Amino acid sequence: MRTAKAAVMPDFHRPLEIREYPLPEALDPGMVLVRVEMAGICGTDVHLWKGQLPIPRPLILGHETVGTIVKLGEGVTTDWTGVPLSEGDRVTWYAGRLCGQCFYCVRKRQPTRCLKRRAYGITYACDTPPHFLGGYAEYHVLLPGSAIFKLTDLSTEMVIGAGCALNTAVHGIERVGISWGDIVVIQGSGPVGLAALAVAKTAGAHLTIVIGGPAHRLELAKQFGADQTISIEDVPDPGERIERVRSLSGGYGADVVIECVGIPSAVAEGWEMCRDGGKYLVLGHYGDAGPTALNPHVITRKQLTVYGSWASEPRHMAMALEFLRRAGDRFPFDRLVSHRFSLDRAAEALEATARWTSIKSAIVP
Ligand SMILES: [Zn+2]
Ligand SMILES: [Zn+2]
Repeated sequence: MRTAKAAVMPDFHRPLEIREYPLPEALDPGMVLVRVEMAGICGTDVHLWKGQLPIPRPLILGHETVGTIVKLGEGVTTDWTGVPLSEGDRVTWYAGRLCGQCFYCVRKRQPTRCLKRRAYGITYACDTPPHFLGGYAEYHVLLPGSAIFKLTDLSTEMVIGAGCALNTAVHGIERVGISWGDIVVIQGSGPVGLAALAVAKTAGAHLTIVIGGPAHRLELAKQFGADQTISIEDVPDPGERIERVRSLSGGYGADVVIECVGIPSAVAEGWEMCRDGGKYLVLGHYGDAGPTALNPHVITRKQLTVYGSWASEPRHMAMALEFLRRAGDRFPFDRLVSHRFSLDRAAEALEATARWTSIKSAIVP
């Protein structure tokens, strides 16, 4: 029986360890076996490792993956967009699996909140077959009904650099809506912040202000076309940052503020950066980082509209990949992949992401 290696999270807060599991000897109809070329490390993986969502263990993390098809199960002939698939094709895939039948999938059209939603690298324990249902491994099994996307003209770095952050930003900005000429503030200069910046700029924002750090991330934000940046290192006082935003927006505040930080206290700060009648999107809290003090009076007084947006749908990933094909020159997401680690060093890769030393770490098995 052939086996392969995976970096396994045995439990919350415990270092990742290398384990070997048997590869499936035969594929059920609809399944696909992929050899992993590169797996991105998302900030969410750090939140998951810290136990911020009730997920099963042991678990193979990794929900942003590119690989090569080794074997196609019976009945799999095309990708999600209808492009023919064959063994040897380079592919990526949408990490979620939606039932398409529940109250939220069908009646309320909120499929990201599918009652039976599962996600590779998040909701599948790895101690039972087919084991390989996360990206931090030599191989990945795709279960029937997975949304697969064939990659022809996109580099692996471009896809991993954009990662789930771009899908998340496409979904979030679809919900909040940006109007032509809007002033948009983005709190956070990590992958989600940079993706939100790219989407906001192409959605009609005329002035974009990115708040974040460290300096190398703000430099990338400028390369992505941020009109103004505010460094949290140079301006550590939230009150002063709010004043900066007000003075950059004619004294009123921004039309739209997008939270991409994942730190609860950022929300109270961000509300104050909205103009009266403005919109606020909480995008960076997929993990539950805990409560924070918020004053509801601010919502009433400013007549704010506050939006939430959870993960993404396959169509958002299709749009994100199309966006990378069209606008990848303008938004060099491939440059985000700053650190590469072998599978054996997956624990270090996760730590680099937790400490914000890398822009984006990737595992190359
Ligand atoms: Zn993610
Ligand atoms: Zn459903």
